[in-house]
Amino acid sequence: MNGFDEDRTIADLRRLAEIGKFKTGVHRPALSDVDIEARRWLCDEMRAAGLDAEIDGVGTVLGRAPRASVALLLGSHSDTVPFGGWLDGAMGCIFALAVARAWSATAPGAAVGVDVVSFTDEEGTFMACGGSRVFCGDLRLEDFDTARSASGESFTERLRALGLAGRPLARLDPARHRAFLEAHIEQGPRLIESGVAVGAVSGIVGLRRRRVTFHGQADHAGTTPMSMRRDAGAAMHAFAVAAVETLLAAGSSESVCNIGVVSVKPGAANVVPHEAEIVVEFRDLSTPVMERMDEALLSLIAARDGAGGVRIESARIGAIEPTQMDARLIAHIERAAGEVDASYMGMPSGAGHDAMILGRRIPAAMLFAPSVGGRSHHISEDTDEADIRRALRVYVRAAQSILHALGSDGRGAL
Ligand SMILES: [Zn+2]
Repeated sequence: MNGFDEDRTIADLRRLAEIGKFKTGVHRPALSDVDIEARRWLCDEMRAAGLDAEIDGVGTVLGRAPRASVALLLGSHSDTVPFGGWLDGAMGCIFALAVARAWSATAPGAAVGVDVVSFTDEEGTFMACGGSRVFCGDLRLEDFDTARSASGESFTERLRALGLAGRPLARLDPARHRAFLEAHIEQGPRLIESGVAVGAVSGIVGLRRRRVTFHGQADHAGTTPMSMRRDAGAAMHAFAVAAVETLLAAGSSESVCNIGVVSVKPGAANVVPHEAEIVVEFRDLSTPVMERMDEALLSLIAARDGAGGVRIESARIGAIEPTQMDARLIAHIERAAGEVDASYMGMPSGAGHDAMILGRRIPAAMLFAPSVGGRSHHISEDTDEADIRRALRVYVRAAQSILHALGSDGRGAL
């Protein structure tokens, strides 16, 4: 694309990493002073690229191509987790800016434009994917009334203090926004381990959570014979081992599960637990697969209920549906990788992203760059510059190819 400046894009990424810099990473939680400083800088850069850019009433920055009636929407988020990395989110915003600059140099005044977005609070300082959910109409401003950060700050009060309260909200316009493309670091080890330059996300996994509670009887741990105990703790431990086996046997090769919450009551070394509780979480790209896993878990619960005098009950406490990425957009990424000689693989995303929210409304896709050591959400998060450049070339080429597919009037098929 004419006007595409790779060196400037790398310099922009490093410039953004200076705002809120912490050691080798970045501390830029949503609606912190440095988060807004970064958003103001992005806004200025978008304007310099010829876009009509504003920070909206929740902190999302949207830059619109002024003369376009149809647009390819590009971007990600510029907030970070506390003491996080320099690329998570930032890469997608800066790559988007690079395309917008190049496109306005290549096709100034075209009917098809590039809009650039940095969504507020993807990382959930107040509300995970808060910006993209407002943008898509899944949340209203009132839904944030009670939203507070871990340190007790109110979302609404922060907006007021920053002078953002009452500003108009940026909105998805399905007639204008034909597709969304987000570049992101992988945040896992698959690309780096396999030596592949870019990944295209096939879909973003959904999840199910089930709380399983075991009811037994508290007794003296020294005097009560083993045969006479109703040990909720022992039942829970044996169940947890079996649950992982059962879930993985019922799932697909991509399924994952986790038992990350465990508690026993009363929690004393000399008392047989009368109650124990675990939270079982499992994820997959397919809703039917997750339902099959859940049924297998329920069968295991039924089979063990009452054994050893321990009653088991369970409740579903969380469900997020998977989002499939658009196959036509994935084909553009795959072709673009071939054209710039970058190796490529398809892969699911185990983490949530703004593209998951957008993908429920308009065609969306994600391009992943390798993460050194698979690490993220930490100051050690990094990607080799050569890998950033390769991913950037694929992204720019894919965006260009999508823009061309839309045609001069924006009515072309993706
Ligand atoms: Zn992110």
